[in-house]
Amino acid sequence: MELAYARLNRKRYSPQSPGKIKPLMSNKDVSIVIVDDMQFSRVVVQAALKKAGFSNIRVTSCAKDALKTMEEEHADVVLADWVMPEMDGLELTDIIRQRDEELGVYTAVILFTAQEGIEPLVEAFNRGVDDYIVKPPNPHELAARVNASARIAALQNDLLETSQQLEDTVKHLEEMTLTDPLTGVGNRRLLTRQLEYHLLDASARRGGVCFLMLDIDHFKNINDTHGHDVGDEILIGFTRRIRRTVRPTDLVARMGGEEFGVIMHYTRAENFKPSTLDRLLSSINQRPFKTSVGDLKVTASVGVCFYQGEGEQPSVLNLIKCADEKLYEAKANGRNQIAY
Ligand code: GH3
Ligand code: MG
Ligand code: MG
Repeated sequence: MELAYARLNRKRYSPQSPGKIKPLMSNKDVSIVIVDDMQFSRVVVQAALKKAGFSNIRVTSCAKDALKTMEEEHADVVLADWVMPEMDGLELTDIIRQRDEELGVYTAVILFTAQEGIEPLVEAFNRGVDDYIVKPPNPHELAARVNASARIAALQNDLLETSQQLEDTVKHLEEMTLTDPLTGVGNRRLLTRQLEYHLLDASARRGGVCFLMLDIDHFKNINDTHGHDVGDEILIGFTRRIRRTVRPTDLVARMGGEEFGVIMHYTRAENFKPSTLDRLLSSINQRPFKTSVGDLKVTASVGVCFYQGEGEQPSVLNLIKCADEKLYEAKANGRNQIAY
């Protein structure tokens, strides 16, 4: 909760003029957290930054407090002393990097060091430190480095935001995609949604919902004999035939592979005629399908479940399961037939 709060509170920056190198934010906007166990150091650093125009500065005396204040409000740049009791600058960096990852944000980290050796610095960079400043800091260098780090943080945050937006868009598009690209009819997602609606409606108004599951018989043989493309042609032709046989208001969807679902809604359950189903089956098996390798005969098996709007309303899943079981029955009884 607190982490989410911190994320929302993160300021957003954007480059004002693409192409030109400009500071992404003014010094005033940069949110800085200073953490040092030595009071003298804290005072010197804060004074130097204030003089350079930075005004959004929080000062803490230990890593724990720094983390706490960052949880309350995101920091663009953290200036931390390397050597501190309890938690040192590197350990603090580890936690900041972990939190950043969880929140999808970036915090720039600068360490103050008295150490001159290369090896510890290499380790620091490997652990995710962005920059270091040798103590005691030169005020101009300090301001310049804080500025540079703030720019890195702003760029990283823009990138993270853009990729998050892209991810959201893709997810949204996926949810919106309700059609099957090959046949152009609805997909399983659309079918499930529509079924939900029709069941509710039938239950409220005593209508009827007839749900059919159709599966092409021995479809694998077609693929194996003539190739996948011809299989696709059959799927497209098959869809067209079902579509033409049922009423325009009935929903046809491809549930997957060579399996289709049809929802027929009746405002009065008694209006349903079983002859509709026979007509559907004969529309499939009476004439061969035209394909690029010539005419091919195809049959299908159908499982049917009917909800008459009385009694307990079945769930979508149960209705699909029921039709699937009937379909299995039709297959087991020799295919090219309807079971209900
Ligand atoms: P059954 O009579 O028991 O239904 O046998 P079947 O061969 O029709 O069923 P099976 O489940 O064994 O095979 C279905 C085949 O459908 C296997 C798979 O390669 C093929 N298939 C699934 N999706 C597509 C597709 O988009 N295009 C093509 N051409 N084939 C597909
Ligand atoms: Mg099949
Ligand atoms: Mg199948």
